[in-house]
Amino acid sequence: MANQIRELTCIRCPMGCQIQVTLNEEKEVVNITGNTCPRGAEYAAAEVTHPMRTVTSTVKVIGGELPVVSVKTAGDIPKDGIMACMAAINQVQVKAPVHIGDVLLENAAGLGADLVATRDVEAI
Ligand code: SF4
Repeated sequence: MANQIRELTCIRCPMGCQIQVTLNEEKEVVNITGNTCPRGAEYAAAEVTHPMRTVTSTVKVIGGELPVVSVKTAGDIPKDGIMACMAAINQVQVKAPVHIGDVLLENAAGLGADLVATRDVEAI
């Protein structure tokens, strides 16, 4: 089996460089081209071997000035864990007040990142 080339767009900055990653038969990265800076190479290597994402969503708030609060994972989680993370988020309800940075779910879905509030919702 020959080397495989994966093409992707770097999302680390607005330049959106087109990056080509060459993988050998063992799926190891052997070459990266098209990146303008080292961050692009890091992104591309991670994306083809263990893609990670930050998850953003909302959580229901009880007794708040708003019915929901925006949330995100405090760090990246494995891309293939997003559905499990969303299922865990959907089970969460919190009582107002909620403040930016409050941890609303520790280690969401066991994926290694806490779920935190990204805005304030005061009690009514
Ligand atoms: S490779 Fe560097 S310059 Fe290009 S999009 Fe990625 S972070 Fe930006």
